[in-house]
Amino acid sequence: MNDNVFRVRLWGVRGSLPVSGVEFQHYGGNTICIEMQCGPHTLLFDAGSGLMPAGQALKADGVSDFNLFFTHCHYDHIVGLPYLPALFDPMASVTIWSGHLAGRMSTRQMIGEFMRPPWFPVEPDICRASINCRDFRSGDVLVPHDNVAIRTGSLNHPGGAIGYRVEWGGRAVALVTDTEHRPGILDPAVLDLIEGTDLFLYDCMYTDDEMHRHVGYGHSSWQQGIRLAKAANAKQVAFIHHSPLRTDSELDAIQRLAEREFAGAFTARDGQVIDV
Ligand SMILES: [Zn+2]
Ligand SMILES: [Zn+2]
Repeated sequence: MNDNVFRVRLWGVRGSLPVSGVEFQHYGGNTICIEMQCGPHTLLFDAGSGLMPAGQALKADGVSDFNLFFTHCHYDHIVGLPYLPALFDPMASVTIWSGHLAGRMSTRQMIGEFMRPPWFPVEPDICRASINCRDFRSGDVLVPHDNVAIRTGSLNHPGGAIGYRVEWGGRAVALVTDTEHRPGILDPAVLDLIEGTDLFLYDCMYTDDEMHRHVGYGHSSWQQGIRLAKAANAKQVAFIHHSPLRTDSELDAIQRLAEREFAGAFTARDGQVIDV
């Protein structure tokens, strides 16, 4: 492995609910899980159903020491957590971070609330890994490894969510999901996170035409992703958090429209690997 690589691996890019079927085969149906490899360091973001294939791949590669960051804990971002093989490996060390519930609930409490009867058959104490829970506040800069700096910011989403900007080796990649802008205004907090990024992954649950029917749901459109990319001089924007109703052919159509407006825009799919 190249020590200087900054590799983004998309394990789950669906929003709201995992889907399967012939009309979802190309873009995939797993909910949000993003891996960033910064040289020798592995960072995971969110524990949607995509965490299961991510965890299997890490196990196959012998990676048993990594950090997992939550944007927030809605079901589509947490449902894969109990299926992360490393949690049950006594040799593994997993550091889990969250900040969207700062002052209301700790990361450890969040996991304990989610992974317990009657919602799940067993409690977190069945996990054999060394699990370190870290709490932070929006605006904190996290340094999980030397030379890896992660800036954080609050997103406008019911119950709160955190956006992340990861800086490593002179490059920057941001993850911004789930978030909503006030009509006609691009959220300055989002612009700040994505300014000049090599790539940002962005909540594109809706189209502009659909937005007015979903005010208050805390999501965005792919057109807003492009407006943000242009305003913040980002090189690339990857659309993620696809609606569970959005078929492959509809996402292909969005891709064709988007690349006409901004050369660095693309519709992301499960399994995609991007080096920045
Ligand atoms: Zn979501
Ligand atoms: Zn959400």
